Parts: sequence; C-alpha cells; structure tokens
Amino acid sequence: MTILDGKKVSNDIKDEIKQQVDKMKAKNEKVPHLAAVIVGNDGASLTYVGSKVRACERVGFESTMVRMSNTTSEIELLDKIEELNQDDNIDGFIIQLPLPPQINTQKVLMAVDPSKDVDGFHPENFGKMALDMSTFIPATPFGILELLDRYGVETKGKHTVVIGRSHIVGRPMSILMGRKGFPGNSTVTLTHSHTKNINQITSQADIIISALGVPNFLKAEMVKDDVVIIDVGITRVPDENSTKGYIITGDVDFENVSKKASYITPVPGGVGPMTIAMLLKNTLLAREQRM
Ligand code: NAP
Repeated sequence: MTILDGKKVSNDIKDEIKQQVDKMKAKNEKVPHLAAVIVGNDGASLTYVGSKVRACERVGFESTMVRMSNTTSEIELLDKIEELNQDDNIDGFIIQLPLPPQINTQKVLMAVDPSKDVDGFHPENFGKMALDMSTFIPATPFGILELLDRYGVETKGKHTVVIGRSHIVGRPMSILMGRKGFPGNSTVTLTHSHTKNINQITSQADIIISALGVPNFLKAEMVKDDVVIIDVGITRVPDENSTKGYIITGDVDFENVSKKASYITPVPGGVGPMTIAMLLKNTLLAREQRM
C-alpha cells in the first residue's frame, strides 16, 4: 500500500512555483497577487483563508485578505467584487464559502471576472472544463488529478466511483475522471444521498473519490482489494484529548480500508494541502495570462 502524500507533493509544487516567482522577480516582473474575500467570522473559513495567505507568503506571491462583516449585504459584496475585477494589481481572487444566508452564492460567483476566477467556480470556466478547454480547474479536483499524475496511478479503463456531487468537488471530479487523457479515461459512477445500494457500487470500484463529509463512512467491507482511495472529507469531530477540542476526520475508515488499498490519501495530509497548492498554481496561471 502506498500513501498518496499530499503534504510532500504540495510542498514540491510550492517549491516549483517559488522558483518561477524568483525568476519573475529577477526580471523585475510583477509577481502574482491573490486576494481572498471572507464574509463573517466562521472559524473554519478563517483557518482556511489564513492557510492560503501563508501559502502565498511562502511562494513569494502578494496577497490581500478582504474581511467583511457577517451582516454584509449582497449589494455590498457585489460592489467589492467589481472593485477586485477592476483592480489591475489583483491577478486572481476567491470568495471563501459558505456565505451568510442573506447572500445568493450563485449570483456572487457569477459576478467574478472569469479571467480572475482562480477557484474555477464561474459557469464559463466550469463549461470550459467540461469541454476539455484550457481553464481554471477547481482547486480540490485539480489537486486530486495532480496527485494521481505524480504517483503514476493508472486511471484509463478503470471504474471510478465518486461519492458526493457538490459543485466544488464531486461534480467536477466526475467530469474530469471521465474526460479523454491522463488522469481520465475512467468509466465514472457519480453517487449521492439518493443512490441505492451504494455498498454494491463501491465494492466494484477500482478508484473511489469520497467527498461527502461523513466521518468514517467508507468501511473496509465496502471496497475491493487493491482499490485506490482518495478521501476528500474534512470533518471536525469533538475530541477531549486534543488540545483544540476536536480532531480532523476523513470520510474513510483509514485503519481498516488502508489494509485493502493499493493507494490511499491520509486525512489530514492528503487532499487538503493539495487544494492550496493548486490554488497557487491557478493564480500563477492567471498572472501569466495577464502578461
Ligand atoms: P457537500 O456540499 O457537503 O455535499 C455532500 C455531498 O455528499 C452531497 O452531494 C450529498 O448528496 C452527498 N452525500 C451525503 N450523504 C451521503 C450518503 N450517505 N451517501 C452518498 N452521498 C451522500 O460536499 P463538499 O462541499 O464537496 O464537501 C464534502 C466534504 O469534503 C466535506 O467534509 C468538506 O469539508 C470536504 N472538502 C474538503 C476539501 C479539501 O480541500 N480537502 C475541499 C472541499 C471540501 P446530495 O447531493 O444528494 O445531498
């Protein structure tokens, strides 16, 4: 069994990006600048955005964190987005989700200039992705592709089962694994909460990408020998023995499933760090496209 070490691979990617940024600096070129908009005080969201800002510092990007209060109106957020769209100094920006209930998320994501949409959530970029055109691929699916690629995990002709159909992970993942090319050329089954007999489906899978957010959902008896497991789930589970008061748990019963798997991502240290590295990669791409 091989651990798909997202921490190591993401560090390799960050080193590669830093080398490119150093070359830009040596030529007196503008370095990539990522902005992150966060509305409200959600603890997990603040942690994620903090990690993204630190990652920018590590590779030499400029970064801006835009904090807005929990009572921000939709119009105020749309105005801020327009400001970022127009700001030549900003190459790419993200709106950290979830947004407070008074704001229509879809409307907000559609207001982002597609050329600065480094999260790849705008319908124009999502459509390009589905049509195999060059675009920003959403960071988490992009990170999973990169992990499969760097470990040389065969995907052609394999049966890939994706669990969860969110717009940011499951749905794009199902499209990308079925597209022509590597990683891709899989036969894909997309499952969700209405799927019947999911155990039967997962036990026929060569590759399982689990993104539902239910701790230890995928058990050893649900998978076949030599399966490849990508665990996207991140759930904070209360734990008295931890200093933080919680532990981060994935969707997969790692202890038992890893005994049957050929490759598996740990949680933490698998898909999570890859997501941030690929956001940086998309931001570098955005800068290059604006040169
Ligand atoms: P989400 O919006 O939370 O939706 C969950 C999906 O799982 C839905 O499609 C739902 O089906 C499906 N689902 C729920 N219970 C199910 C069941 N019993 N059997 C089959 N499918 C079921 O999804 P998300 O935003 O992609 O998040 C999923 C997990 O990934 C969360 O733990 C999140 O924190 C984590 N995540 C991690 C990263 C990372 O960087 N590692 C990035 C993003 C998300 P319906 O559509 O029918 O409701």
